[in-house]
Amino acid sequence: MKTLLTNIRIETGYLTQDNFTYGTATKEIAIIFDAGVVTDVLDDEVKINKAKLTQNIIVIDGQNNLLLPQLREMHVHFDKSKLGIPWTPIEPVQNRIERFEKEFDYLKKAPLSFTQRMENLLNLELSYGVTHFRSHIDIHPAVGQKSLEAAKKVLENYHDKLDYELVAFPQHGLLLSNAFSEMKSALQNGATLVGGVDPISIDGNLEKSLNQTFELATQFNAPIDYHLHERHHDARQTFAKFLSLIEETNWQGKVTISHAYGLRDLPKEERKELFAQLAKNKVTIISSISLDFVIPPLIELKSAGVKTFIGNDNIYDCWSPFGSGDVMDKLNRYAEIFDLTSQKELTESLELVTNQKLITPAGWIKEGMPADFTLVNASSTAEFVARRIPVAKSYFKGQQVK
Ligand SMILES: [Zn+2]
Repeated sequence: MKTLLTNIRIETGYLTQDNFTYGTATKEIAIIFDAGVVTDVLDDEVKINKAKLTQNIIVIDGQNNLLLPQLREMHVHFDKSKLGIPWTPIEPVQNRIERFEKEFDYLKKAPLSFTQRMENLLNLELSYGVTHFRSHIDIHPAVGQKSLEAAKKVLENYHDKLDYELVAFPQHGLLLSNAFSEMKSALQNGATLVGGVDPISIDGNLEKSLNQTFELATQFNAPIDYHLHERHHDARQTFAKFLSLIEETNWQGKVTISHAYGLRDLPKEERKELFAQLAKNKVTIISSISLDFVIPPLIELKSAGVKTFIGNDNIYDCWSPFGSGDVMDKLNRYAEIFDLTSQKELTESLELVTNQKLITPAGWIKEGMPADFTLVNASSTAEFVARRIPVAKSYFKGQQVK
């Protein structure tokens, strides 16, 4: 059924006076979508009025809201959520290995089913307006394909609300837990990205661990999204190995490094050189904007041309008692930490959760795009980010979700 969404605004340019950008210009538009796809973008009153008279068209009043792209959660763990379980704090551990061993035991006996915990997580994030998810799913011999199967089953019931990417994640170490063959099965079984974690501090063999990661990626033609917590010289070596493997396999544009704490440890000149290499090889960096002084230098990366995204990562799980589940909280924190206070900086920051340039004279939305978008009662994107204005409505493939 054709739908006409009227009375919505789109930003078309910055408003500047005496070198000070004080806001954005918007224009009123209407869009038509059909079968989940935008079929028309109308900015002319006569055409909009004519469209309203089309037979069998549903007309929705957008209430003068700002039209923004789909919000994307780029780093979450569907299988780790404790949402719905009565409060328990975090058990102290000595290191990451002990953490994931304890986590495994805890989740096996968790007082709420996998399905319910994952639904709670999805419902929470949907309530904040997100409709795209990239989730890591633990894969190792002890858990096998169980979490992946369970996650896929839950996702079947959400097919009209969200789209997703699943990363096969050898949380217990690709080598350490001997996960290679389970990883292969996961990639035959619905996971579309190859994950990984710390080739030195977890796996203890940089060469072998990353060689196997790229072997999986090239064999299944899958992009990589890798959890990297290595610091200082270990980070330096790991990035060098990543870059040489990317060049060897032509995996440009298909590698994401999540966390990438170690990038902040390198001296300025070295960072400059490395960031240029990351940009050239189209490596993406994803951060969960942690507050413990391990955030990679995201602004420096961005100005070097490296694509950056953010995600929630932990939302009340065995690793962290925190996390609101609202990716816009993370974006707001990012803007505050990096002191992004201008109209332009705040506007551009939204690209970290939309992967979409927002301000163009014609507006960002185009015919042929999927009808995935967000409506917000804000004067501008900058206000939406800085003032944490709640999402009014979200649409996925033309269906209202929030
Ligand atoms: Zn993670």
